[in-house]
Amino acid sequence: MKIGIPRALLYFWYGNLWERFWKVIGWEVETSPPTDHQILKSGVELAIDELCLPVKVFLGHVRYLAPRVERIMIPHLIKVEREAYICPKFMGLPDLVRHALPSLKPQLEVIRVGPKQTDLVSCLEKAALNLGTTKSLVYKARKELRQPLKSPGQQMSEWFQVNNGETLGSKLTIGVLGHPYCIYDGFLNLNILKRLSSSARFVTPEMLPENFRGVGSGKLNKRLFWTMGKLQFDAVDWMLNQVKVDGFIQLVTFACGPEAIVGDLLERRIRDLKKPFLRLYFEEHSGEAGLITRLEAFIDLIKYRSRAC
Ligand code: SF4
Repeated sequence: MKIGIPRALLYFWYGNLWERFWKVIGWEVETSPPTDHQILKSGVELAIDELCLPVKVFLGHVRYLAPRVERIMIPHLIKVEREAYICPKFMGLPDLVRHALPSLKPQLEVIRVGPKQTDLVSCLEKAALNLGTTKSLVYKARKELRQPLKSPGQQMSEWFQVNNGETLGSKLTIGVLGHPYCIYDGFLNLNILKRLSSSARFVTPEMLPENFRGVGSGKLNKRLFWTMGKLQFDAVDWMLNQVKVDGFIQLVTFACGPEAIVGDLLERRIRDLKKPFLRLYFEEHSGEAGLITRLEAFIDLIKYRSRAC
């Protein structure tokens, strides 16, 4: 049997774990290729206009995989930690896919995580047992997954760290904030990391050590309910105090519900700390020209500012 994994949404956190798990229990795995024009177009055709861009992209990846595999894994991620949720669109993802592509219903392998069981591996094990996998294979997979596994986001961050030789000497460091699919899907964000790495060093939440979690979001007056929102507050705190970044860029996609609130709170926090901040919105019609101009202007502003200080 061959299972398809869409290279979208939280694939950039959990993709390697998912791939390893299915391979250990004996399945062939096909991951969809990085997003391209055709994948985006086929997702946009299926989706209602109100959906955010990352979910439209996800639908395009599912459509790509449909004729190539027997099953398609749909990560139904409701909660991956005790105190916070992912996002309502993740909660409704299986329904969105079934509605957009009704003929694929028998092919979908929905892996539900949360609201009670938030351990990803346990949820995968449950699905595998339901599919008839033996207990011994499932046990073998758990044992293998005890080894720490880098996420695709971490691997991509490290690649840029090694390959941005031109800017290693740069004195500027920019903190890049956003949901992992906004940061690491190069087609969705018009290759922002590559563009940025030609003029400044940058740091993303996936480059930070594990212990950065919980500090920044813990300073908020009220508890945040969104995992990816909390993570951005934690990252801001760490990037300011430990990395000493010169400014922040936040990558947001059009029609993102949680970011309408979290983004505003985050901007206020950064402006209170008197650090330059640029928010870039992406949607399917985003053009490169405007992005390059804004990025260059922002980098120039930080350079002038640091010389003046
Ligand atoms: S968090 Fe925002 S961008 Fe991500 S799936 Fe939800 S609405 Fe879309």
